[in-house]
Amino acid sequence: MTGIGFVGLGNMGGPMASNLLKAGHTLRVFDIVEALVRPLAESGATPAASAADAVRGVDVLISMLPASRHVEALYLEEDASGRSLLDQVDRKTLVIDCSTIAPASARRVAEAAHTRGVTMLDAPVSGGTAGAANATLTFIVGGEAAALERARPVLNAMGANVFHAGASGAGQVAKICNNMLLAVHMTGTAEALALGVANGLDPGALSEIMKRSSGGNWSLERYNPYPGVMDGVPASRDYQGGFLVDLMIKDLGLAMEAAEATGSATPMGSLARSLYRLLERQHDAGRLDFSSIQKLFGRQS
Ligand code: NAD
Repeated sequence: MTGIGFVGLGNMGGPMASNLLKAGHTLRVFDIVEALVRPLAESGATPAASAADAVRGVDVLISMLPASRHVEALYLEEDASGRSLLDQVDRKTLVIDCSTIAPASARRVAEAAHTRGVTMLDAPVSGGTAGAANATLTFIVGGEAAALERARPVLNAMGANVFHAGASGAGQVAKICNNMLLAVHMTGTAEALALGVANGLDPGALSEIMKRSSGGNWSLERYNPYPGVMDGVPASRDYQGGFLVDLMIKDLGLAMEAAEATGSATPMGSLARSLYRLLERQHDAGRLDFSSIQKLFGRQS
């Protein structure tokens, strides 16, 4: 049993924290939205009054926040007494940030932790909200191998796969490559489904055909974007919940920054980012799931 502090209880963090409780770990939980703390407190977690309160006496601290600026603010910003959260973390506490953020931000925060004698991993996840709920996430870890071994029992309670991508920030690099590819195949899947429907096909039948043909991909198999084709996915509940368009635009921005920094050609990723921006503006879709890219391809029967 490990004492764990968990900060950020949103679409991903909430179910991840819940799985840690189910695995028998003790939790101190915090989110700036109090309503997200309550269900975990009712399941046995200790509600913390602040992030600093959440780290008190824990072996492991996990954060699951939206973007780089939130993670940098959480760990590096000083409070009224002039101390950052990292200043208040015990040196024995292993810090694991699971948010998807810029590799440079991950390195900056890990370096700040290192100078205080605190070990930190970047461990962004793949697998979506269903993976978070079912404890089948994939963790993509950057940092020291020995620290990853310490983290492994805790990560195993929330996921099915743990990969070591390399040094600090490497987990984030692998994650943004993955999400760029996800945006590309989700967009292509939505485009193909709309083409089939416009030409008289049933979207469910077409999905079955493509799943077992060379167009098969994760979006078709697990996250069909066409409303009514698959149960339990955001497309079948008006694109509510899931992985927000705003977060996908953020991740594609991170991929473009990484491409710019290395002179890499990413024409597909760049087009996917433009399409997601268009979706956000034309359909006010920032808070919808990213499979709502289907809306860009016209009327859905
Ligand atoms: P979310 O917006 O639902 O949750 C983020 C939570 O962080 C919110 O509840 C917010 O109130 C809280 N928060 C923000 N600042 C805080 C602070 N200073 N202290 C405490 N809490 C704070 O986002 P999410 O969907 O859970 O995603 C979290 C991260 O995981 C993002 O980086 C996202 O890119 C990544 N991710 C999401 C998915 C997905 O399917 N949703 C999949 C893989 C990775």
